[in-house]
Amino acid sequence: RELPGDPRMDHMPREVLHACYSKVSPSVEVENPKLVAWSQSVADLLDLDPEEFERPDFSMLFSGATPLVGASTYAQCYGGHQFGTWAGQLGDGRAITLGEVLNSRGERWELQLKGAGKTPYSRFADGLAVLRSSIREFLCSEAMHGLGIPTTRALCLVTTGKYVVRDMFYDGNPKEEPGAIVCRVGQSFLRFGSYQIHASRDKEDLKLVRLLADYTIKYHYPHLENLQQRNTLSFEVAEGDLPAIDLTSNKYAAWAVEVAERTASLVARWQGVGFTHGVLNTDNMSVLGLTIDYGPFGFLDAFDPSYTPNTTDLPGRRYCFANQPDVGLWNVAQFATALAAADLLNKDEANYVMERYGTKFMDEYQSIMTRKLGLTKYNKQLISRLLNNLAVDKVDYTNFFRLLCNVKADATVPDKDLIAPLKAVLLDIGKERKEAWVGWLQTYIEEVISSGVPDEERKVTMNSVNPKYILRNYLCQSAIDAAELGDFEEVRRLLKVMERPYDDQPGMEKYARLPPAWAYRPGVCMLSCSS
Ligand code: AMP
Ligand code: MG
Ligand code: MG
Repeated sequence: RELPGDPRMDHMPREVLHACYSKVSPSVEVENPKLVAWSQSVADLLDLDPEEFERPDFSMLFSGATPLVGASTYAQCYGGHQFGTWAGQLGDGRAITLGEVLNSRGERWELQLKGAGKTPYSRFADGLAVLRSSIREFLCSEAMHGLGIPTTRALCLVTTGKYVVRDMFYDGNPKEEPGAIVCRVGQSFLRFGSYQIHASRDKEDLKLVRLLADYTIKYHYPHLENLQQRNTLSFEVAEGDLPAIDLTSNKYAAWAVEVAERTASLVARWQGVGFTHGVLNTDNMSVLGLTIDYGPFGFLDAFDPSYTPNTTDLPGRRYCFANQPDVGLWNVAQFATALAAADLLNKDEANYVMERYGTKFMDEYQSIMTRKLGLTKYNKQLISRLLNNLAVDKVDYTNFFRLLCNVKADATVPDKDLIAPLKAVLLDIGKERKEAWVGWLQTYIEEVISSGVPDEERKVTMNSVNPKYILRNYLCQSAIDAAELGDFEEVRRLLKVMERPYDDQPGMEKYARLPPAWAYRPGVCMLSCSS
């Protein structure tokens, strides 16, 4: 079924009522645009021949300067809660969809240009993107995919050859920065806010919640479409503690549960690799459970539960690392509220959706942390003692887990040698803290021995969940610094390394190093919402 669109075709900022999208064309100005990097695996998804990237008009097409034949370009209308407050209409203020590609495997992939000019949703901003933030989005989309975490993808990165003015938040002075455009790719860019906006308005808009839900189920959750008739799904409901909700009698409830579970599983995976999104507003929550909108994200270096990469998030730290699971639930609650406003869920069903988020998160998180330790049985105490130790000694999260597989399942190793395999990450700890670590390692080794998994087998499992390479902020920053001087080699090299984060890559060890001193200087690696 067609979704209603906005009849006006211009890009003047405005409130768009009773429409899911606005037709708008890219209006970005370019001057000798250049293709600087592209992802082979995304090209494969789109059945794009590598030779296409050699076309002389490629960068004109993927900057949006030359229209793609057959494209029907538009920007989506959505709203959202920003930092816990309803913000009303937001929408694609600088992303323009080119259309969808139906590939040879029957998969549907939407292509979006981010930074291609103003849309009706640009509000007070310019609709453009700078090279710095485009490199971050391009690299992190592919790095997350490499880590096995659901995400929107990035096909290519093109510079516009024009400059964009940005207020630099750390010195308050406007600065000219090179403009760039990422072509991002996803099965859908629908967000929680896409449903919320219509639920927040008049009766006419309220009808769109159902229409958009039907559309989403038809194209993205087709196994739920005929749920009432099929009646084959059965969900185990623990007696007594959860309401007995029959998900087969309401496809919207079954759908909302699946959205909640995908979200829970996504957040659990973020916690597993130390990823902090930075702006978990409801407009940045994908209805497909994908990581979406790479702005001021950051991976943990030293373990710090209160870490937030986003300067706009200080001092509240709503979106800090440790809050992500709760924020995910809060966002799911807003999504369920929007569906309930349109009578798609009743109160019990909405509550059940949230229950299922909680259960799924705990299941996934416990399983991920257990595998990170190379164990077969969840041990709550062992994990919380470890996280506490990591936080007290500010130990590097990624490198700690990567090295932990070298600890032998041998209870006869003398205490003084226990820490040896972890020396590189436990360098500066005092005598007292050493005791805490030895104590933890003794318990850990007991658990390993009782699991019965041989050391070599445990190492293989651990290396498949504990990445060696993550896209640390300082690595991104080095690539950005070089790119701003016209050298894109480092962007391309980082892309290659991050495509295989679990493999030992000979010669690439420097990309697994801890941040150097310069990364901690004021102003360096600082990011805000507008990044
Ligand atoms: P974000 O914080 O990235 O999720 O963005 C919040 C809202 O601001 C979204 O509606 C974006 O489309 C919009 N936005 C962010 N940057 C720009 C920009 N440079 N021009 C127009 N809209 C923008
Ligand atoms: Mg956003
Ligand atoms: Mg953003």
